[in-house]
Amino acid sequence: MLTKSSTELVRQQNSALVLAALRRHGPLSHTDIARHTGLASATVSAITAELERADVLERLDQPAAATRGRPRVIFAPRRRAGYAAAVRISSDVVQYSLADYAGTLIDRFEEGRDHAGGPVALFAEALLAGLDKLAARSRLDRTQMLVISVSSKGLVDPATARLVWSPVLGGQQIDFAALFAGRWRAKVFLSNETLLVAHALATRMERSGGEGVPALAALSLGHSIGLGIARRERTGELAVTAPNFGHMLNSADGKLCRCGAQGCIEASAGFYGILRTAFEVPPDTIPAKFVPLSEMDKIALRARQGHRMSEYAFRQAGLALGHGLSRMVSLYGNMPVAVTGPGTRYFDLMQRGLEEGLSQSLEVRLFGAPPISVVPEEATLVLEGHLDRALAAMDRDILAAGDP
Ligand SMILES: [Zn+2]
Repeated sequence: MLTKSSTELVRQQNSALVLAALRRHGPLSHTDIARHTGLASATVSAITAELERADVLERLDQPAAATRGRPRVIFAPRRRAGYAAAVRISSDVVQYSLADYAGTLIDRFEEGRDHAGGPVALFAEALLAGLDKLAARSRLDRTQMLVISVSSKGLVDPATARLVWSPVLGGQQIDFAALFAGRWRAKVFLSNETLLVAHALATRMERSGGEGVPALAALSLGHSIGLGIARRERTGELAVTAPNFGHMLNSADGKLCRCGAQGCIEASAGFYGILRTAFEVPPDTIPAKFVPLSEMDKIALRARQGHRMSEYAFRQAGLALGHGLSRMVSLYGNMPVAVTGPGTRYFDLMQRGLEEGLSQSLEVRLFGAPPISVVPEEATLVLEGHLDRALAAMDRDILAAGDP
């Protein structure tokens, strides 16, 4: 049959509601599923029975509270229904993580990268080997991996899973869908890393009870500068984007950026930009490929001891970020900003410049600056974003496959 009857579509939508409730609240009893989804008790019974038969859900016996009688049955996604791999590409390492269908993290390891930046083919080969290793360590068959979710800083084309420009590979592009297609049946996703952070922050806020905020931004500080914006649409869907913030033109100041352009926010606020200003190196000097944290710590220490140029370098970085955020507020409206990434350890040195940059905009002077908080655990947020999106895709695919 090519088209689905309306009864089948309703059933599929109701099943999606049940899975979404389990993703949002964790394992739930029959009564709680009915309460969270608004579905009738009989409908919930029919759906859970069907999803159990299809090996999508499993029953867990929750030990009864000491004072009460028999154990309660709760439902959860069946752990072995499928697996997701998350691959995080960063300037110095590639991190591989494996989770099961219940969202449990099973394995995680890192492989070093050569900063010198070899040819893209070698990098692609290393990625394939890394994924093989991830499956082999948990004795998984390649067919059990349903999603491979890759993230990088830079510009990505999520529709085709193509990395367009990245700090790691520059203009050398990788088509991840094509790279994995021969070996893996898994669906392949490519996301900008800070987009995943914004996604995870928005999801966390919702899970912590309240309504969540209508919009929030994540600003990642480090060697490169990333921005993710999460907005709740009227339909209830979470829309997350990663505008090209780090390479947005900030000022015609002639500071050479890693992307080859001049005057990008990153050229002032990225680690190499701060280093260049602190050491009074001409602004058109070719940016350092990688600046170790220990080097940045030294400049920060000097700034805190009152060294004028080091202080000034962080202040200029803050100013560029403040100008950038004021433009974001003008374009998207005011929203809370969570600052994350390795650069948060120098945030105290950038804060004054950032506030100064923000306060120069009319929008901010009229309606106030966005509330800014520091959330240092970037790696955890990136992984949460990977898994949440991967599991949602697995749910959609499992339900769309028909029976269930
Ligand atoms: Zn740039």
